[in-house]
Amino acid sequence: NLNLTSGAGVLPRQPAYDLMALRAEFPILAREVNGKPLVYLDNAATSQKPLSVIEAMDDYYRQTNANIHRGLHTLSQEATDAHELARQKVQGFINAASSREVIFTRGTTESINLVAQSWGRTNLKAGDQVLVSMMEHHANIVPWQLLREQIGIELKVIPILPDGSLDMDAFHRLLTPQVKLVSITQVSNALGSITPLEQIIPAAHALGIPVLVDGAQGIPHQPVDVQALDVDFYAFSGHKMYGPTGIGVLYGKAELLDAMPPWQGGGDMIDVVTFEKTTWAGLPHKFEAGTPAIAEAIGLGAAVDWMQRVGVQAISDWEHQLLVYATERMKAELPGLRILGEAAHKAGVISFVLEDAHAQDLGLLTDQLGVAIRTGHHCAMPVLHHLGVNATARASFAAYNTFEEVDAFVAALVRVREMLI
Ligand code: PLP
Repeated sequence: NLNLTSGAGVLPRQPAYDLMALRAEFPILAREVNGKPLVYLDNAATSQKPLSVIEAMDDYYRQTNANIHRGLHTLSQEATDAHELARQKVQGFINAASSREVIFTRGTTESINLVAQSWGRTNLKAGDQVLVSMMEHHANIVPWQLLREQIGIELKVIPILPDGSLDMDAFHRLLTPQVKLVSITQVSNALGSITPLEQIIPAAHALGIPVLVDGAQGIPHQPVDVQALDVDFYAFSGHKMYGPTGIGVLYGKAELLDAMPPWQGGGDMIDVVTFEKTTWAGLPHKFEAGTPAIAEAIGLGAAVDWMQRVGVQAISDWEHQLLVYATERMKAELPGLRILGEAAHKAGVISFVLEDAHAQDLGLLTDQLGVAIRTGHHCAMPVLHHLGVNATARASFAAYNTFEEVDAFVAALVRVREMLI
C-alpha cells in the first residue's frame, strides 16, 4: 500500500544496500545528457547494466568465444559449460525444479510466442478460450490473435477497476470451462498494477486450466518462486533485470514442455536427422534451435548473480519507497496531474498525464533537463484506450535510483509544466 509510514514509523530514505557504491557499478549513470547529469527513469523499458554483466560478456568474447554443444575442443567445452551454468543460475533464481525447465529465448515476446505456437497449436482448437487481462502488453495479446486467425480460438479479456487493479469478480465470472489457458501479466508495464497471482493460479488450476505469467515487469522487482506460485509457464526478459538484450527465458513445467512439439527446427534441437524422419533432442534443447545468444546468456547469469548479491527484496523495498515519495511529490507540486493506475498493490511505475500537455512534449522537454522518461502507449494500447488516453508519460524505478533523482524529475516536470500550460 502506498504509505511511507510503516508500523515501525517512517521508513528510512535509504535502501538496505550501499546506494552510492551500487551506483558506481553502473558506468552509464556517470554520464551527462544535454549538459545535465543523467536521471534515468525509463527502467520499465530496459534497465542499465552493472559492470559485472558488461565484463562477463566482454570476458567471454576475449577468452572463451566458440560455438557450444558441437565441439570437443577446449574453447567449445568452456563456452558450453558457461552457457549451461547460466541456465543453472536462472533455475536457482526462479526456483525451478530442474534446469531442463529453463528455455533460453530472445525475451518475453519470443517466450509467449513459443507457448502460443507450440502448446497452443497442439492443445487448443476452434472455440477454446484464452483469458488475458485488459492491461496486457502487446506481447501477450498479439500472439493469441495470430493463433485466433490460425485455428479459431477466442480471446477473452478480464477488465480492470478504476484504480487500475484487476477486476477479480469479473475474472471469476469469465473463468469458465471453455477457458483453456489463462495468460496474464504479473505487473502491468503501463499502470504498475500487480496482479494477484496467488488467487488467479489456484482458481484456474481448480478447473484444470494452466496459467502463463508474463513476468517481464515482475521478475526485476520482486522475488519469484515458480514452484511456490505453481505457475505453468513463466516468461521474462534479461534486459529488464540488469542483463543484456537478446536473451530471455521461458520457464515451463517439465511435463508440459515434454509433451510440446518444437516450434523451430534446425541445429541443436535434434537427436537424429534423416531425410525420412527426425527425432528431437530432450529438454531444454528441443526449443533452442540454432546457435543461441551465448554471450547474452552468460550476461544474464551475471545479472542473476548481481541481483542476488544486492538482494531482490531489498531492491523491491527501495523501489517502493521511491514510488511513494515520487507519487506524493508529484501530487503536491503538479496541479492538473492525473496518475493512471493507483492500485494498492503497485510496482515502481508512474504513468501520468498533465492537463493538456502532450506526453510527447513532456518527454522531449524533460530530456533537455537530463531526465529520461518514456512517453507513448507503452505497447499497451488497449488499456490506455480504456482509460481514455492515447499516450502517457511514464517514470519507472530501479535499484540505483535515488530520492535526489526523484527531486530532479519533479523539478523538471514543474518547469516543463510552466512552459507548456
Ligand atoms: N510484457 C511486458 C509486461 C513488458 O513490459 C514487455 C516489455 O516492455 C514485454 C512483455 C516484452 O518484452 P520484450 O520486448 O523484452 O520481449
